[in-house]
Amino acid sequence: MAYRVGIAGATGLVGQRLVARLSGHPWFRLTVLGASERSAGRRYGEAARWLLAEPLPAEAADRVVTGCAPSDFAECDVVLSALDAATGRTVEPALAAAGLPVVSNSSALRLDPGVPLVVPEINAGHVDVLAHRPGPGFVVTNPNCSVTGLAMALAPLHRAFGVRRVVVATMQAVSGAGLEGPRAIELLDNVIPYIAGEEEKIEIELAKILGGADERGFAPAPIGVAAHCHRVGTVDGHLEAVSVELERRPSVEEAIEVLSRFTGEIASLALPTAPRAPIVVRREPDRPQPRLDRDAGGGMTVVVGRVRPCPVLTLRLVVLSHNTVRGAAGGAILNAELLAARGLLRSGSTA
Ligand code: NAP
Repeated sequence: MAYRVGIAGATGLVGQRLVARLSGHPWFRLTVLGASERSAGRRYGEAARWLLAEPLPAEAADRVVTGCAPSDFAECDVVLSALDAATGRTVEPALAAAGLPVVSNSSALRLDPGVPLVVPEINAGHVDVLAHRPGPGFVVTNPNCSVTGLAMALAPLHRAFGVRRVVVATMQAVSGAGLEGPRAIELLDNVIPYIAGEEEKIEIELAKILGGADERGFAPAPIGVAAHCHRVGTVDGHLEAVSVELERRPSVEEAIEVLSRFTGEIASLALPTAPRAPIVVRREPDRPQPRLDRDAGGGMTVVVGRVRPCPVLTLRLVVLSHNTVRGAAGGAILNAELLAARGLLRSGSTA
């Protein structure tokens, strides 16, 4: 039995990652590839400017791209959205209103009071609020690509020692800006110290993920966050320099132990694309590095290094996560697997 999956925004950078990662997936079958009217009606292989090193899967290349109306996804059990936020803000609620489960990468609905914002290893339980939804359709989101790695590294520290305040400086890869991101002339030999809306997303999304959830909704964790975001000339992999203030002061070894042992809330579910280790801690003084470490665990493992005392707050560390895999397509597919395991998707076709 396989769940029939549609992708909204299939031609973009995250959409391409979704297409690649769904090819051969044991639970999910690629069924509809939706994009804008610029692409609709064309073969996917022509409409998508394929930018991944791995080949475009044959099962997708000849498929005709559709639009993103609810009727386009009528044959699907779940829709994965890789739409830009402005489009997602109208399309995603329309799909949910038509009864479809939607798993979104966009920021459109992340802070909506009825929408779980989920990193499965950290807060899989937040999907339980969907039991109180009015109809069969719903939206589940994954966080901003910088928040995913930060939340993964801070969740075990928060549970063990209590996170109070965080200062984070990001060095974010070009792929995080999508296909229409900055031009080479702006990026080469340069660092751009501004990414529109990014610092605000980091400062607010982290608290929702690390907070609680019950039938009344979500209760953000009382954590103060200051973010400084930079676009740098790496292709994939967001690197983050983090200082964190904790309620209790662990030794560096205790902190490394807590990070290394973290398995998360889904360890017992055997989800097909869950990494064996959600976090790997490197002890070399110059790791993690984007080019060397972004593909750890197939891009799903967050790599932490340089764990050391902070003379101003409590601890310092460096975090790396693959922005279009763990921070986007891989995270969305893991969320969809979680929903399937929790019985929240339609029953799945037998074809
Ligand atoms: P992208 O490369 O710009 O792709 C955007 C996609 O949306 C394309 O498939 C495009 O189709 C489609 N689209 C645009 N306008 C549309 C419309 N009016 N109706 C239907 N489809 C439309 O963006 P991306 O980098 O893949 O990011 C996708 C989403 O994921 C964004 O919300 C982004 O913020 C989020 N995200 C991205 C990353 C990352 O690292 N890149 C990480 C986490 C989250 P056409 O090709 O037909 O125009």
